Amino acid sequence: MATLQLTRLKKRYPNGFVALHGVDLSVAEGELIVIVGPSGCGKSTLLRTLAGLESISDGELTINDRRVNELEPAERDIAMVFQNYALYPHMSVAGNMGYALKNRGIAKDEVRRRVAATAELLGLGELLERRPRQLSGGQRQRVAMGRAIVREPQVFLFDEPLSNLDAKLRVQMRLEIRRLQKRLGVTAVYVTHDQVEAMTLADRLVVMNGGHVEQCGEPMTLYAQPATRFVASFLGSPAMNFLPLTAHQGGVVLPNGIQLALPFTLPEGRAATLGIRPEHLCEAASTTEGAILEVTVEMLEPLGADMLAYTRLPGLDEWLVVRLDGAHAAHEGQRLSLTFSPAHCHVFDAEGRRVAM
Ligand code: ATP
Repeated sequence: MATLQLTRLKKRYPNGFVALHGVDLSVAEGELIVIVGPSGCGKSTLLRTLAGLESISDGELTINDRRVNELEPAERDIAMVFQNYALYPHMSVAGNMGYALKNRGIAKDEVRRRVAATAELLGLGELLERRPRQLSGGQRQRVAMGRAIVREPQVFLFDEPLSNLDAKLRVQMRLEIRRLQKRLGVTAVYVTHDQVEAMTLADRLVVMNGGHVEQCGEPMTLYAQPATRFVASFLGSPAMNFLPLTAHQGGVVLPNGIQLALPFTLPEGRAATLGIRPEHLCEAASTTEGAILEVTVEMLEPLGADMLAYTRLPGLDEWLVVRLDGAHAAHEGQRLSLTFSPAHCHVFDAEGRRVAM
C-alpha cells in the first residue's frame, strides 16, 4: 500500500505542447482515484507520467514520500493495466501472468504459487493453459488485471481498461474491479472518459479539463455541488440544463422576459447561467408556488423506467430536458408546467464558476 503525491506536476511534450499545467493531487493509502475528462484533457498523459512512461517536465511526484521523478518505470513498483490488455499472444495465461515475476528472478515454485492464487481470485483457475486468442474479451481483461495483481505492486494504474468490452460486461467488470481493489486494499488511479464508470468506481473523482484539474472530491459532492459549469455539464446523463440569466430589479430574468424567484441576488445587469438537472424539474401542481416554467414538449425518448422529454421555453433556443416517469402519458406538442426547488439550482458566473447561494 502506498500514498502518491503530485505537486505542481507539469508535462511539456518535445513539440512544446503543454499537456499538464501543474497538477496537484494527493492519493491516500488504499484509495481509488478516478480521473475523468473529455478527449485530449490530459488523462493518459497524467497516468503515463505516474508510470514513468513519460518524463515529468516540472513539479514533483512522490510515492510514500520518496521522490520518484527520475526513476525508470520498473523501479517505481507500479503496475499498469492497459486498454488493449497488451498480452503476449504466444504465451499461455499462466505465462502472461507469471512473466514479470520470472524476469525478476523469483523461483519457479513461488511464481506458480502466486499465479495460481491470483487466478483463483479472478476466476481464471480453469484457463491457465489457454492462449489469449482462446479467451473472451472479459477473460482477457481479467488476465491483464491478474498480471498486475500477481506482482503485488504498491500502486495500480488503469488506463481505460474496460473500453473494449460490451456494455453488459463493462458493468460486471467495473463491479469486480471495485470489489478487488477494496479486498486487496491497493492504491489505484483509474482513467476513463466514461462518467458513469467514473462515478460508480471512485472514492474520489478528479475532473480534468485542458491539462488542469477542474475539481476533485467524492463523486456525489461533485454531482451535487459542481465547482464549475464544466464539471456540472460533464457529470450527469442527460447533461444539466443551462439557461442564461440576467439580474434585474433585485431578481433574475430569462432572455424571454420570464422573471424567476430565486434565493440569491446578483449585481444588477450581471449575466449568469442557471443550471438545473433533468431529474430536478417536476410538473407543477395547481398549488405550486415559486418559479413555474411553461414549456412545450418537442421530442420524447422512452428509456423504460424513465422518459426524457426535450422541451423548449417560448422564445429560447436552449433545450430544457426533463426526466419524467417512464409511464408518463406525455406526447409531442404537449404543454407542461414545470417547477423546481431552489435547493436544486446551480448558478455559474460569466467565467463558469459556481456562485455561492
Ligand atoms: P483521450 O481520452 O482521447 O485518450 P486524454 O485525455 O487521455 O485523451 P492525452 O492523450 O493525455 O489526452 O493528450 C493530452 C493532450 O496532449 C492532447 O492535446 C494531445 O494531442 C497531446 N499529446 C499527447 N501526446 C503527445 C505527444 N507525444 N506530443 C505532443 N502532444 C501530445
